[in-house]
Amino acid sequence: MPVSALSVGAPTVLENIQKLLVRLKLARALEVLDELVRRLETGELSALEMVDQLLAEEQAARENRRLRTASMTARLTRLKTLEGFDFSFQPSLDRQRILALAELGFVDRTEVVHLLGPPGTGKSHLAIALGFEAVKAGKSVFFATLAEIIASLLKAQREGELANRLRFLSRPALLIVDEVGYLPLETGGANLFFQLVNARYEKGAMILTSNRGFRDWGEVFGDNVIAAALLDRLLHHAVVIEIEGSSYRLREHAHLVPETLQANANPAPPKRRRGRPRKQETPTSLNG
Ligand code: ADP
Ligand code: MG
Repeated sequence: MPVSALSVGAPTVLENIQKLLVRLKLARALEVLDELVRRLETGELSALEMVDQLLAEEQAARENRRLRTASMTARLTRLKTLEGFDFSFQPSLDRQRILALAELGFVDRTEVVHLLGPPGTGKSHLAIALGFEAVKAGKSVFFATLAEIIASLLKAQREGELANRLRFLSRPALLIVDEVGYLPLETGGANLFFQLVNARYEKGAMILTSNRGFRDWGEVFGDNVIAAALLDRLLHHAVVIEIEGSSYRLREHAHLVPETLQANANPAPPKRRRGRPRKQETPTSLNG
């Protein structure tokens, strides 16, 4: 049958293809069919090329849909990619190490990646971008801030659902815990977070981002014993990446921030702890 018979001589063939595409739920293929037939008739595409493009369009649409759904499930709502990360802005950061992480061996080895550095240095960006890479590779991912995770565990505990919530948070192959150390933890939070870390230990990978060094963890978690137990597990199979640069957010306005408030001068969390005032402390900066 000559090629042109597809639409000119035998419109029923085209109609039949359309019907089949509907029945097979190949929505994107159906959408592009007319255009591809037109290009076939003008000789722009061979018959084989047309079939190839039809299937490729459908496949790409499905992959996009899968990525969108998986990203929503993972709560990766901000679009941050490795391609969108300007490594030249952060010379202290070893690009090759980040690209090696993007190969996702750390997820299979259930390791813990720590991204440390002052605010605005791209910790969350990189954590999300690595999360997207994992989603693309078909791995289950869940992203939340430490405060969100602890709030959800406390709520579950109040409702007698703690075991379920711990199971839910133990399931993803990669759990991203953003913003360790920014906000004071709710009472009982450190203990619950320890239970989660313990449940995931050597079973699932994690990425943690923090503006505080490990020596501050006693203060971050409000308990030296829990902090030590957390670090024991979170540093056992770990990759620690320290970013020692300046804030990307402030790259045009850094000179407006008073010296005493610059991240390099004072790494303490922006919000004050409630309750009894803290004893005089010597802040331990991540970058000297
Ligand atoms: P942090 O979590 O370290 O405080 P973020 O990752 O949230 O910092 O970065 C702050 C903002 O600046 C985000 O919008 C992020 O996408 C952007 N950003 C940070 N570093 C870079 C970079 N090197 N290249 C491109 N965008 C960056
Ligand atoms: Mg952040």
